[in-house]
Amino acid sequence: MGRRMTDPPVSWLMSLALARPQVISLAAGFTDNVTLPVELSRQVLHELFSETTSARAALQYGTTPGDLGLRTLTAKRIQVLDNNRGDAALYDPARTVMTHGSQQLLYLLTECLCDEGDILLVEDPTYFVFLGIAQSRNLRCRAVKMEKDGVNLGQLKKILEELKLSGELPRVKMLYLITYHQNPSGITTSFEKKTGALEILRSYEHDAGHPIYLLEDSAYRELGFKEQQPESGLVASGGERVLYAGTYSKPFATGARIGFGLLPEPLMTSVLHAKTNHDFGTANFLQAMMYRVLKSGLYVEHVKKLRQRYEFKANVMLEAMKQHFPKGVEWIEPAGGLYYWVSVPHSMSTGMKSKLFKAALDADVIYVPGDLCYADDPTRRKPNYEMRLSFGGASEENIREGIRRLGEVLRAQLA
Ligand code: PMP
Repeated sequence: MGRRMTDPPVSWLMSLALARPQVISLAAGFTDNVTLPVELSRQVLHELFSETTSARAALQYGTTPGDLGLRTLTAKRIQVLDNNRGDAALYDPARTVMTHGSQQLLYLLTECLCDEGDILLVEDPTYFVFLGIAQSRNLRCRAVKMEKDGVNLGQLKKILEELKLSGELPRVKMLYLITYHQNPSGITTSFEKKTGALEILRSYEHDAGHPIYLLEDSAYRELGFKEQQPESGLVASGGERVLYAGTYSKPFATGARIGFGLLPEPLMTSVLHAKTNHDFGTANFLQAMMYRVLKSGLYVEHVKKLRQRYEFKANVMLEAMKQHFPKGVEWIEPAGGLYYWVSVPHSMSTGMKSKLFKAALDADVIYVPGDLCYADDPTRRKPNYEMRLSFGGASEENIREGIRRLGEVLRAQLA
C-alpha cells in the first residue's frame, strides 16, 4: 500500500498556501478565518475547566463511539435538519459515531466495505481526497455524470447493468455522493435523486449478493446560503442503506476536526472495530468542547452568521469573475458551500502541468485543477478544462485580487 500511494495533491496545495504567504490560494478548502468561533470556544472552554470533574473527564481517554451527550445532540441535530420527517429510530445515539473529521469516517467505511479490486461508484467530478483513499486501497472507480440536481440516474443504472452483465456486480459495495453544495461542483442533490439512487442500488442487490450502500457525505450541509435545504437520504424508507457522514469542521472549526456518522448495522459495529484499531476514540477533549457548544444553543447562531458570511464572499467572487474573466469562461453558481466550479474554453487545459497553472503560480495565485477531481474511470476521458475556486479561506481583498490575477493569466493564455 505504501508503494501504491502517490503524493496527495491536497497536501501540496495546502502546504504551498502556508509556506508562500504571498500566494493567494483559491485552492485549499480552508474555512473563513475571521468567523472562526474564538469567543464561543473561549467561553465553553472556560466553563469546562472551571469545574475539576468535567475538566478531568475531558482530559481522559473516552470510548470508541464517542461521548454519549455529543452523540445524542448530533443525532438530534440531523433529525431537525431532516425536518423531523424521518423515522425517529434512525436518529439514535446508538447509530451515531464521532470520528476525527468526517475524513476518518470516509476512510473507515471504505476500509470496512471494500476489498482490493472492488468497484466504487462515484460522482463525476467528485471529492479528490476521497479518490486518494480509493487509490490507496486499490479500488477501481466508475464515475456517474453530474447534472444540476445530482447524478444522472440513467447512467447509474446503465453502469450497474454493464457490471451485472460482465459478472462484476458483486464487486460493487457503495455509491459515494456529496449531496450538499458538492465539492467541487457546488451542486446539491435533490431529495428525489437520492431516493431514486437508493431504489436503483436496491434493485441490484439480489444480483450483487449483498447490500449496496449509499454513502451520503453531507460535509457542506450547514453552509447553504439560505436555510431551506433538501432533506437527507436518511428520511427515505431505505434508511438502513444510508451511510451518513457529517462534520462540525465546516460549520464550527476545521481545527477541531470533529466528524460523525449515522450508520446502520452491521456497518456500525464494523466501523467501531476498525476505529478501535485506528485510535479507540476521537479526542475526548475536542468532543467535550463541541458538546458544550451545541448544548449552549449558540451553535445555531454561529451557523447563521457563517451562512451570511459565505453568501457575501461568494458574491465578492462572482462580481470579480464577471469583471475580470474573459468571455468563454463559465461557472456554476452554488447555493452554498465554499466553491465555484469554473470551466475554461476547451482548447486550454487547467492541469497541474498546464501552461495556465504554471502561469497562475508565477502570478502568485493557485486553484485546484479540475482533472484531480475526476476518478480514473477507463470508460471515459478525464476533462481537463475546469478549476475549483474556493472563496472559503481567502479574505475579501484576496478573493478580488486573486480573481484579478487569474483573469489576467487567462486573458494572456487565450491570446
Ligand atoms: N467530505 C468533503 C466533501 C470534504 O470537502 C471534506 C473536507 N474538505 C471532508 C469530507 C472532510 O472534512 P473533515 O474531515 O474536516 O470533516
